[in-house]
Amino acid sequence: MANSAKIEMERKIPVGISSCLLGEQVRYNGGHKRSRYCLDVLAECFDFEPFCPEMAIGLGVPREPIRLVGEADQTPRALGTVDSSIDVTEPLLAAGERIARERNHLRGYILMKGSPSCGMERVKVYHPNGMPNTSDSGVFVRALRAANPVLPVEEEARLNDAVLRDNFIARVFAYDDWKTSVEVEPSYHNLIQFHSRQKYLLMAHHYQGYRSLGRFLAQAHEMPLEQAMAEYIQAFMGHMTHRATRKTHTNVLMHMLGYLKKAIDTDCKQEMLESIDQYRLGQVPLVVPLALLKHYLKRYGSEYICEQTYLNPYPHELGLRNYI
Ligand code: SF4
Repeated sequence: MANSAKIEMERKIPVGISSCLLGEQVRYNGGHKRSRYCLDVLAECFDFEPFCPEMAIGLGVPREPIRLVGEADQTPRALGTVDSSIDVTEPLLAAGERIARERNHLRGYILMKGSPSCGMERVKVYHPNGMPNTSDSGVFVRALRAANPVLPVEEEARLNDAVLRDNFIARVFAYDDWKTSVEVEPSYHNLIQFHSRQKYLLMAHHYQGYRSLGRFLAQAHEMPLEQAMAEYIQAFMGHMTHRATRKTHTNVLMHMLGYLKKAIDTDCKQEMLESIDQYRLGQVPLVVPLALLKHYLKRYGSEYICEQTYLNPYPHELGLRNYI
């Protein structure tokens, strides 16, 4: 999964991360969970901003571990594992709200799995009698996501899955595009331009979402700009959390090939169709038909189609499309 190619970026994208994943010794036992993928690969394009909520609320190292405790129908609380009268739920919630507010410039957040503070999902919740009960998200991340629902978040361990990795990194880059092109200079024009270049990427992630946002934008000028932008980005980022599949990528490739219909001859078209079909059948990765498509689009494609972020959603040196 690691890619050692040097990535040329004009600027790195600010992304939050659980401090222990960067090798900081902030875990309850003084250890860390250094992530090679984050440090050796993603750090080439992300400017990581580490944060440890448990250290931030004053729990030192070493410390008594905490865990989530609650009945099945209750929102769990973060309590000490030895002394259950230690309840750090409220300070952790406040830390999540504070980070969402103070680090509004972040384009994504990478979290440590299984943590009662940082875990994104499936963190064990114990019944007050001590038995494992259900699962939930960590307390810090619960507040972070409630305060900033559009922020792309993912657990570091899930980045081992090629599809989830592609999904998260594409979301971070798309959100960065939003921040730098629409949020800094709000206008209906910039909103439409954003949608226009993200169209096929969105189509690959969620076809219905792509259609409904097209309809939304047709009416958007009738509502105040601020409201239109807020509703749009919330829906867009929500649709982008859906995983793109071989089927949805195949659909997008076929749509894009349609732009070359009159420009390329029958043999080239046949070669392109065969390549897309090999991808659909799982015989080659996405990068194969895409390289061919890009080759023809570069020669014969319109400005509109060549500017689709679907063609280059993130630096190609990451090599993510070699695995999906
Ligand atoms: S609270 Fe989060 S950042 Fe701190 S050690 Fe635990 S998982 Fe890592």
